[in-house]
Amino acid sequence: MSDLRELLTVRPGNARLADIDPRSTPGLPGKQAIGDDPKRWSQAQVATISEQLNAYQERLFASAKEGATNRRVLLLLQAMDCGGKDGTVRNVTQGMSPAGMKAVSFGPPDEEERRHDFLWRISRALPPAGHVGVFNRSHYEDVLVVRVHNLVDEGEWSRRYDQINAFEAEQAAAGLTIVKVMLHISKAEQKKRLLARLDDPSKHWKYNPGDLAERARWDDYQRAYEDAVNRCSTAAAPWYVVPADRKWYRNWAVATLLRDAFADIDPQYPAPDFDVAAERARLLAAD
Ligand code: AMP
Ligand code: MG
Repeated sequence: MSDLRELLTVRPGNARLADIDPRSTPGLPGKQAIGDDPKRWSQAQVATISEQLNAYQERLFASAKEGATNRRVLLLLQAMDCGGKDGTVRNVTQGMSPAGMKAVSFGPPDEEERRHDFLWRISRALPPAGHVGVFNRSHYEDVLVVRVHNLVDEGEWSRRYDQINAFEAEQAAAGLTIVKVMLHISKAEQKKRLLARLDDPSKHWKYNPGDLAERARWDDYQRAYEDAVNRCSTAAAPWYVVPADRKWYRNWAVATLLRDAFADIDPQYPAPDFDVAAERARLLAAD
């Protein structure tokens, strides 16, 4: 495990969100490496990491050709409103081939989805073999918003932590690498970002008057998040809490976590199932 994963991973039962400063920057290299413009440093780092990610993505895609493996990777993002999910996705997947990606956002379940178990729509949205998936919200909403608003009774949501762990373990055993990230922002930072949305007409579409009612339940949400990351950080699919008030740190941290997950998989181009020299000779001999 790399240093950053060690630093940000949730050790089940031990994470206290109140003890994690959303403005902190765990694992950041020293000032000497970064210089005096951390934003610029982060941009350059993320650009470099993106190139690595793109190379990994291509090899993952190639390695799964014709069903050779069932390997796939899922970046799952959870955060309060304005937590930076969209921005993170944009930064971390810059340059990835859309053909090998599957990005899905989850809102309130529609009528058909409500007729099924909460994991039904999740299973269908998982990345196929060789693909990189991104979840903008996820099945964790079923123990977050659902719990905070009592959308189902406690008996039901409290069973879901174990159901989620079993589901994720099963998927991991079937070749899915899951990188679960909570973008941890402060209530003050959320206020700043909500105001910025209201002050920018091009961002009004992102604002929802209901966001203020959710904000009023901040402490309930923090408790629900804390339980979710503590109860569902497993060996098969650990949770990472990324301090996210500083966007440049957040982008660097998530890109690094994803890169490190890929490094473990280290997907390889498949060996050709034809004789390369013979094909070359054949091509040269032809018109
Ligand atoms: P946004 O990400 O801002 O587009 O908002 C999506 C909304 O969908 C959020 O308010 C979530 O809480 C809500 N949502 C997502 N999943 C569920 C779920 N399983 N049940 C109820 N609401 C959900
Ligand atoms: Mg919203």
